[in-house]
Amino acid sequence: MNSCTHLFDYKNKNMVCVKECTCCGSNNYFSIYDKDRYGYDVRSNLCMSCGVVFISPRMSEESYMEFYNKSYRQLVSCFNKRKIDKITIQNEQEVYANSVYEFIKPHIVNKFDKINLLDVGGSTGIVSKALKDEFTNNYDGIDVDATVIDPSMDELAIAKENGLNIKNGFIENLEGIDEKYNLIILCQTIDHLFDIRKSLTIIYHALTNDGIFFIDIVDFKYMLINRGIEKSIKLDHPHNFSYQSTFNILQDVGFSILATSVIYDGHLVGFLCSKQKPSTPNYDLTNEINDLLNLIRYRK
Ligand SMILES: [Zn+2]
Repeated sequence: MNSCTHLFDYKNKNMVCVKECTCCGSNNYFSIYDKDRYGYDVRSNLCMSCGVVFISPRMSEESYMEFYNKSYRQLVSCFNKRKIDKITIQNEQEVYANSVYEFIKPHIVNKFDKINLLDVGGSTGIVSKALKDEFTNNYDGIDVDATVIDPSMDELAIAKENGLNIKNGFIENLEGIDEKYNLIILCQTIDHLFDIRKSLTIIYHALTNDGIFFIDIVDFKYMLINRGIEKSIKLDHPHNFSYQSTFNILQDVGFSILATSVIYDGHLVGFLCSKQKPSTPNYDLTNEINDLLNLIRYRK
């Protein structure tokens, strides 16, 4: 048994059965594995329509809220055998934040004089603060107003100290956001969300018509090839995406993909999107789904 599992009482939490893929609505899925990297009994399923991997049954939102507020950082620290908390992640995320800034900068400069930024799942706000500082201090001082949404009040407290606006909760519960944003970022977060289509649709409606949306994924195919299935599944990722499957989901919701890039290191892939009308996705995912299935079944 993994020595970290005592840090969170997973088996006694409230569970929810996900009957349909939250990306495409299909109920055609293949159960691929029944453990996660920490050693918890987590069942993962590959959607045979859109190629997304999702946990079901999964914990309720209340149990995830408890997990993120009490156990998440301790569990990740134990697994990685080094301390990872709201302080240490600040240094590590500065390099990541710079990578995001460099990727989005050419699409922002000369386009906006003022940025209204929404950072979904932004934790301590390190990326928002970096973007705010860089855009404010360069390019004739673009004025940036930034808001961070996150389930952890502890981490939001740091975001507030850094001069950012804060909202506590999950994006799925913030339907009907009144305010519009011309830059929305979803950094290392989509894999943590419960309802993908709903979340992306909320973001789509919160984005101005000329706005820019940045999203990145942990590329599940990269993880399978480099680390194998067991190390690729984790309780804190109810969903997992590959590069190709993400293209289709974004297009289906109504985003047009302006650019893609490896972010920070090979396992993260970033997509920069603009807003258009929902369109039929271009890509036939048959080969992608077969690739994933083969990697899952034959590469342990
Ligand atoms: Zn699906």
